[in-house]
Amino acid sequence: CPEDFKRMELEPLPLMTLDFLQILSEVCEQCYLKGSLYERNNKLFQKCVFFLTGAKLVLFGSSKNGFGFKQSDLDICMTLEGQDTAEGLDSMAVIESLAKALRKHHSLRNILPITTAKVPIVKFYHTKTGLEGDISLYNTLALHNTQLLASYAAIDARVKILCYVMKVFAKVCDIGDASRGSLSSYAYTLMVLYFLQQRSPPVIPVLQEMYVGEKKPVVLVDGWDVHFFSDLKNLHKYWPGYKKNKESVGQLWFGLLQFYTETFDFKETVVCIRRIEPLTTFKKQWTSKHLAIEDPFDLSHNLGAGLSRRMASFIMKAFINARRVFGAPVRDFPPEYPNKMEYF
Ligand code: ATP
Ligand code: MG
Repeated sequence: CPEDFKRMELEPLPLMTLDFLQILSEVCEQCYLKGSLYERNNKLFQKCVFFLTGAKLVLFGSSKNGFGFKQSDLDICMTLEGQDTAEGLDSMAVIESLAKALRKHHSLRNILPITTAKVPIVKFYHTKTGLEGDISLYNTLALHNTQLLASYAAIDARVKILCYVMKVFAKVCDIGDASRGSLSSYAYTLMVLYFLQQRSPPVIPVLQEMYVGEKKPVVLVDGWDVHFFSDLKNLHKYWPGYKKNKESVGQLWFGLLQFYTETFDFKETVVCIRRIEPLTTFKKQWTSKHLAIEDPFDLSHNLGAGLSRRMASFIMKAFINARRVFGAPVRDFPPEYPNKMEYF
């Protein structure tokens, strides 16, 4: 269990100096500036994607949420004109015929329909941009969670940097591929947002708990409430914590590593960004899971459900190592990296 691991392997760290925190901030900022993607616009989208009559294609995921890599895949949601939901739709047949249509497009390769997944998709590779992509059908909740993540990203520049750094960390440590039994980028992003909400003072509010007026509105999509406060221009009026947290990115990055290795109790608590009050694994009846991360809209969905005990320990080990590596200054730089920033 990740909890036993923590007790076994945590070693004491030296006190952080201001100089070191400054370097840590620069490392995080440089990492973000070098590889991040601002937002993919429709021009690229239209270049990449072909015309299909009756089909509406919308980009979501990291092309739109503010935490993308330049090489991030294209996540596309397809809906059909005149049909609001997937109800009554033969998804398998639509996916198969979509794959057939894509095969006729000369700049697309490796077209692969996957009909066994929870949300059926067609994967493809676009030769002109070198980007991979997938098209899913009526993945409506994902469009909403992309908007929610994009709103958090828009509140504070530190959110974007930290979510981005976390994704880089997950990729470098090989703990960020859900199709190979670890956690998705999306799950890591939720972990960062949760930490930023729980920080004292918080860096971001809980947008799903905020509303204007007397009663919290309920907006149902696929049976789940997707309401969140989106009037960010007026956030300062409705959120007393606005701009109260003044920590640097370096402080927060190290704080995050400490939070998930020293403070957060994976056995007892669910990573849950929709409310400020702690949510227990007992209440969710997710006690048998090693790591519980609740989707902010689909509350029955635990993003950590597929983790094996081994993988959960592997992820925890990566966090423990990162706490050690980022928690103490590097004394000796290898001779081939006289410039410290280059080394990082
Ligand atoms: P990357 O840059 O690694 O592609 P991403 O944010 O696009 O990051 P993906 O794993 O490609 O992450 O997922 C794309 C989007 O699909 C997410 O932003 C989220 O909206 C949705 N999504 C992904 N995994 C899940 C999941 N397990 N449950 C619910 N929604 C998910
Ligand atoms: Mg993606």
